[in-house]
Amino acid sequence: MPEQPPALETLSNSFVSSSLAPFRPTKGRVAETSELRSTEGQDSPGPTSTRLDVGGQRLPIVITAVAGTWILALALGLLGPLVAITFPALTLTAIAATLIGVRRYQPRLRWPWYAFAVGFTLFLIGGVARDALNTLGDLSANRSLIPDLVTIPGYFVILVALMGFVRARHRDRATRLDLGLDAAVAALAALAIAWVFLMNPTLILNSAPMSVRIVVATYAPISACLVALTAGLAFSTGGRQSRADLLRMAAMAFLLVGDVLFMVLETHSVAIPQRLIEVPYALALVAYAISALQPSMRQQTEPDVESENTATVGRVVVLGLALAIPGFIAVTRPPAARSDRLVLGGIVFGLTALAILRIVRAIRGRARSEARLVHLSQHDALTGLPNRIGAQRHLTGALDAARAAQSSIALLLVDIDRFKLVNDSHGHSFGDELISIAATRVRRSTRPLDVVARVGGDEFLIIIHGVDRDEDLLDLAHRTRRLFSEPFVIHGSEVASSASVGVVLADLDDPDVTAEGLIRDADTAVYQAKDAGRDAVVVFDHGMRDRVYQRLTIQRDLRHALGRGELSLHYQPVLDLPSGRVSSFEALLRWSHPAWGQVPPASFIPVAEDTGLIVEIGAWVLEQSLVQLARWRDELPHGGRLGMAVNLSARQLRDPSMVDRLDAIIQAADIPRDALTLELTESALMENPVQAAEHLARLKALGIRLSIDDFGTGYSSLAYLRRFPVDDVKIDRAFVVGLESDDSSDETLVAAIVAMAGALGIGTVAEGVEVEHQAARLERLHVDRAQGYLYSRPVEASLIPAVVARLEANAKGRLMPVRERFSA
Ligand code: C2E
Ligand code: CA
Ligand code: CA
Repeated sequence: MPEQPPALETLSNSFVSSSLAPFRPTKGRVAETSELRSTEGQDSPGPTSTRLDVGGQRLPIVITAVAGTWILALALGLLGPLVAITFPALTLTAIAATLIGVRRYQPRLRWPWYAFAVGFTLFLIGGVARDALNTLGDLSANRSLIPDLVTIPGYFVILVALMGFVRARHRDRATRLDLGLDAAVAALAALAIAWVFLMNPTLILNSAPMSVRIVVATYAPISACLVALTAGLAFSTGGRQSRADLLRMAAMAFLLVGDVLFMVLETHSVAIPQRLIEVPYALALVAYAISALQPSMRQQTEPDVESENTATVGRVVVLGLALAIPGFIAVTRPPAARSDRLVLGGIVFGLTALAILRIVRAIRGRARSEARLVHLSQHDALTGLPNRIGAQRHLTGALDAARAAQSSIALLLVDIDRFKLVNDSHGHSFGDELISIAATRVRRSTRPLDVVARVGGDEFLIIIHGVDRDEDLLDLAHRTRRLFSEPFVIHGSEVASSASVGVVLADLDDPDVTAEGLIRDADTAVYQAKDAGRDAVVVFDHGMRDRVYQRLTIQRDLRHALGRGELSLHYQPVLDLPSGRVSSFEALLRWSHPAWGQVPPASFIPVAEDTGLIVEIGAWVLEQSLVQLARWRDELPHGGRLGMAVNLSARQLRDPSMVDRLDAIIQAADIPRDALTLELTESALMENPVQAAEHLARLKALGIRLSIDDFGTGYSSLAYLRRFPVDDVKIDRAFVVGLESDDSSDETLVAAIVAMAGALGIGTVAEGVEVEHQAARLERLHVDRAQGYLYSRPVEASLIPAVVARLEANAKGRLMPVRERFSA
């Protein structure tokens, strides 16, 4: 059910500023950071980087160019003594790039980045120590293990950093475990290869002490693990790999290549010029440094929403290759020593176990995701509450159970007032936040047994068990309504709100009562609560359904009524009481519906007001009636003095363009401005008194006359009358009816109104004068003018000349007794 009729979307600004005032944040600003975070594109810079980013992409390019040239020179042997500073310089660059990247792109989680920097620092210290102690290739017992004991922990720190990324990216434990398993499979496969080609040959080097052998054999497998984890991380995202992902993967691959070469060099298996071993490390450092300077580096620590344990092609290929490796080794390797076979056997065993575990988990995961899908289809993602479907299921079950237990079920449907406008004016994340807070409040206020569901954008349904006394339900409903009148603090701003509540008590004896029907009834009740001015509680009754239906059909057909020429105006003369002459007319709208016949204004005007159609229709009324008036002023005898009163709705008064449009209409009709009187009810004025006073002042400045309609039925205070530049008050028919009897209380009231108006220089018009007795009393009370069936019903324009002629004729016979005067 729409909270507001559709036409409200074309609200004028002034309306927004008046009626929406409660929804304006009263302090603070709307924090947009969190929105930006989630909508950020793959490589778009984060919000804080916009300023810094002017030269943002320059730095990686500079690094690439300088370091690329340097590395090329290194590979070609052109660097000479500068070779020695390559590694320290690039390591420092990588550390600096990490720190700059963190500062610039403000990732949500920082410690993994700092861990990277720590890892590199350890590499730097280890590398410097290695050069200083000259341990490279020294496999003797004299070799100092210090460089290795510094460097190897560096690898572990980086491993931990990568795990930090995994944790941050995958909130879901199951996904993390799967990722770990995949990485472990890949790492084991890499280990198998490393074992065969690097570790085993190293470890069986009898010349070196065992400690040295172990240390030297460690590098390659650890970097294999790093590659595996990095790849796993990159391929675990549902979407494309980001540039930062790919660069980091390249960095880890280069590191592995470097480590393999390093091992080869240490063990003297193959002769490689020492500067060449620096190349892969250098490339690794540069690739890493650039990756840390990519805007997409932020995504490393953003929760990944897309990947729901997806089997990406990359993942499947890596796994397939990993599992194929032991077979490949078994086929190609000659029979090996027992220790060798044991290690390889262990690896194969481990791989198989991991693969089985992974498959089992994949199958379970499927079942899990199916269950999840069912859950998702019945729950709302934002609040986690059941959605409309879930609510219906719950309710159906609850109805059956309550019927069996002879208990009761009631529904409260809560609809947040003007929520659509909050969403439109503050953005959806603001609205979402409001809903979340509201959901928590409602959830907390209900008993554990009662079910709270979110059944629409701004609607909560509460299924209440075992409360069947009307007053208890009402009490509950009002308590729920009040949950919304406490201000909501959203993104640091306080927002006032309210809610309309519909209440339905299920009639369990009626077998036709269904969940769906009950929710519809609750909807109907909410609709009525909105109609009653919002922030209200309405209990459903059966007549309501028909009324709502009627209203909706009126709304539907009224949209076309003007275009199809179904609307017309009737005019009712207003007489000057002392002289008995016609002074003006009131224009009254009529709708002749092709199927329903005459629709009373009381049925369709409120609908026109609600939907905003009154703005268009009202303009038409003004145009028509003023053109008509101009004609009568020309054509009728003594017509030059005639005026026209037109009813104006609050909605029209709010329209900021109204004054100018009205002036244009008056000018087009070519009548003096004071020939027009606008009739406004007190409630229309009180809806927004400040704005009303302002608009009325502008109308008054034009020279248009203003009248307060239905006077006496609303606030009717003197202070209030003084506030607006009013020319007339129309004394409501209710008081005029009272003049018929001899009860003098209404007479006193009318006398008071006349006295008060006279003191303020305001004219009085009595409406609904039906019998002479009333007319005579009004005249005695010095009411200025009168209108009513006694003189004439509202009639179509073509009949007015005859009506006026009759009334004027009566006026000439003023000396006749009243009875005879109006007997025609
Ligand atoms: P209202 O402005 O108070 O209009 C006076 C109502 O009293 C009219 O009802 C009129 O037909 C009726 N009436 C006049 N003399 C007598 C009488 O002696 N006895 C009785 N019982 N009734 C009498 P109507 O035409 O049904 O209009 C009802 C309401 O609809 C109006 O009340 C006004 O609020 C609204 N309305 C009518 N036309 C327009 C329009 O063009 N624009 C707006 N915004 N509202 C309109
Ligand atoms: Ca009126
Ligand atoms: Ca009236």
